[in-house]
Formats: sequence, C-alpha cells, structure tokens
Amino acid sequence: MRASKEVKIKNSKFKTQKRKLKEIHISGAEGIYTKKEINSTVRSYIQRALSHSKGIADKIVVTIERLKQVPLSIKSLPVYTLCSSTPAEGERIVKEIAQSLVISKKSAEVALKVIKEGNMRGAAIISARKAERLEPDCERGVRVSLLGISKSALKRLSSELSKHRINTDTVKEAIILASKVASCNGILAELCVSDDPDYTTGYMASRKYGYIRIPNIKKEGSKIGGRAFFIEERLDVKEAIHYLEEIPVIITRVSPNKGIVTLNELLNYTHI
Ligand code: AMP
Repeated sequence: MRASKEVKIKNSKFKTQKRKLKEIHISGAEGIYTKKEINSTVRSYIQRALSHSKGIADKIVVTIERLKQVPLSIKSLPVYTLCSSTPAEGERIVKEIAQSLVISKKSAEVALKVIKEGNMRGAAIISARKAERLEPDCERGVRVSLLGISKSALKRLSSELSKHRINTDTVKEAIILASKVASCNGILAELCVSDDPDYTTGYMASRKYGYIRIPNIKKEGSKIGGRAFFIEERLDVKEAIHYLEEIPVIITRVSPNKGIVTLNELLNYTHI
C-alpha cells in the first residue's frame, strides 16, 4: 500500500495550480499474506493511510499480486537498543557504527543528508566508500517489497519485543524490512529514520551487529525521515535492487531482543 497527499509548495514561482502542488509520501506498507488474509489486511492498510499522523492521504494505491516463486526463508536480525538523547548524539552513533562497518564518514554524511531532506518513497542506495548515489531514480528510491513473516515467527517476535515493551507494528515491520535488506548480498548497513512525527527512534541495521535502535534521532513532531542502504563499491547494484524489490523473502526464524546495551558493548561484542 502506498498513500500520498498533495500539498502546496510554499513561495512557488509557478503560476499554474498543478506546478504549485507536490505529492508527499504519507504511509506505505508491504507484506506476504494468504488469500484468506487479503480482505482484513487491505482494510487495516487503508485505515492506516487514513489515520496517519503525517496527515490524511488523498491517494491510496493498493497492489495485490500472486507470488511467482516460493519465498526464501530467513532469520530476523537480533535487536539492541542504545541510549541516546539528542539528534546530534544519534548522528555521532550512526557515524561510529558506520566506521566500524568500513563505511566512510562521507557516505554516512550523505545518508544523513538524504534522510533530512525527506520525502522519498523508497530508500537511497549509497556506495560505502565514495558516497555515490546509485539508485536509478533519486526521487522514488528503491522500495523493498515482497517481504513477510510466518505466523509462528510473528508470535515469537512479538514475545521477544514484549520483554522490553517495544512490541508495536512499527517496530515489527521495520525489523522484517531490515532483516530482508541485511540478507541482500553486498549491503553493509541500512540507516532509517521514520517520517512519522510521533516516532523518533531510528535504527542502523547490519548483518554484523543486528538491528540497533537509536532513540531520539530526530525531534518529536518532525515529519522528516527516510532510508539509506550502504552498498559495497564493487557490487552490481541492479542485482541488489532486483533482490530487494522482486525476490519474495519470509522470516521463519527469530533472533532474540537483547535489550539496552552501550555502543561500546555492541561494537566490541562483549554482549554476546
Ligand atoms: P517509515 O519507516 O515507514 O516511516 O518510512 C521511513 C522512510 O523509509 C520513508 O520516508 C521512505 O523513504 C522509506 N521507506 C518506507 N518504506 C520503504 C520500503 N518498503 N522500501 C524502501 N524504503 C522505504
């Protein structure tokens, strides 16, 4: 599901009404479901699009397609939460994690800049060393699709997240997406800041460290958010995009939720 809304551009120099408007992304959701679940899922997606804190959507596009192949089965990333109280501290943490994943400072800065500019429907793909934008359409970005979780894994994930009171749809959906992204060959990490004004916890996810939650990465009330994937320089970007957008992946096994850790513990593996 993809929901958007047209808003007026402030101080637009264009005279025609059409040029004074721009479409902003309100909400999106993806999933793999059985035929029986389609009705209730579509209803809940529409409800979400019409009650989002970013505003009420005036266009909702729902696409339903039959899977053309059996989904690949993967394990969800382990979950960690860091203590961080300001956006500046959050950015420092992002840069430190990036550095330990051999992602250049420049690439981390480009990702933070893309996210602060906001209003992409998908994610930016940034080369890990030279900081080049590699997605074919920089306004749309790459949309991770065809991802889901089995019923038993969802139950297990909910119970893991409940231990630390973070069992919400937002967290579960983000973990599912981040786990698919981390399973993509050549993607070293993902940085995400939600564009939901009420949700200020971002994350940096990677196969190496798991799904790392960074509280207060943006100010409460800010509608700005986005996603960026850091990719190894030598990798075939087209192949990565094909995997992210077109290969169905389902989570059938769940890693634990390890609660609060320090950045030092996380980067030095002393928590394991
Ligand atoms: P959200 O976590 O839903 O608040 O989304 C934050 C940002 O992530 C959005 O503004 C989009 O730029 C991006 N995004 C949302 N859904 C996807 C997706 N399925 N694939 C890639 N990027 C996404």
